[in-house]
Amino acid sequence: MKVVYCPQMQAPTQGYSPSAGKPALVMQAWQESWPDLQIRPAMPLSESDICRGHDAAFVRNIFALRIPNGFGTRSAEVNASLPYTNGAMLTAARWALEDNTCVAAPVSGFHHAGWDSAEDFCTFNGLMLTALALQAETPGMKIGILDYDYHYGNGTADIISVLKVENIVNITAGETFKDPEQASFFLTHIEDDLDALEGCAIVLYQAGADPHIDDPLGGFLSTSQLFQRDSRVFQGLRRRGIPVAWNLAGGYQKPVSKVIGIHENTMRAAIEALRLFPSR
Ligand SMILES: [Zn+2]
Repeated sequence: MKVVYCPQMQAPTQGYSPSAGKPALVMQAWQESWPDLQIRPAMPLSESDICRGHDAAFVRNIFALRIPNGFGTRSAEVNASLPYTNGAMLTAARWALEDNTCVAAPVSGFHHAGWDSAEDFCTFNGLMLTALALQAETPGMKIGILDYDYHYGNGTADIISVLKVENIVNITAGETFKDPEQASFFLTHIEDDLDALEGCAIVLYQAGADPHIDDPLGGFLSTSQLFQRDSRVFQGLRRRGIPVAWNLAGGYQKPVSKVIGIHENTMRAAIEALRLFPSR
């Protein structure tokens, strides 16, 4: 399994959300379970890469610490990590496209970041920045965003609407699925979401841990249902021959080891899908 990681993706944890500190914790857990991971460092995004998806004044104000980041703090260390966390997603997507495979980026904090707003632990929208960078290189490229975090990806929708971006299929489960009674329908519905992604050159899969039923900010899937979610996504995309770059997103259980365990299960599902459906 291919993973994009470098220590610059890491920043001190900010307040309630463990996101900033998660890359190193997840990486350590993954490497303990799978010592043969292939690792590439994240290529950092430039300011102009970031301004492709965000208002330039907003971006400058964030980097100058004039306005708070998505965690509600002003942190030079978080700011220093942002080009790398967002760049990790683009690096993963490029690698997945190159090798027609599945690549992990252990990063979070994207989908609530809108055109000119940082909120709910998200500062810049690495999903949209990745999609826009790929479309800048290959005009018209069709890209899927499969956002299975618990929460609605309002920032992604905002950027698509402000920029009138075309050729992005944006699926955000948080728009529809909230309740444990919807769990089995959600799992069945995954196949329909994958059908909607047919024709995409790549899918960016946000495998949020906060849909877990015990999550204080989420809650409708059990541990084994989350594993089924990930298995269906990875195997379905492999069957369709669509490369995928995936990331972590939310997860707020305490201690953080519970969240890390969910991200380990996502890796397990990805590795199993690659084994069952080797490259064509
Ligand atoms: Zn969330």
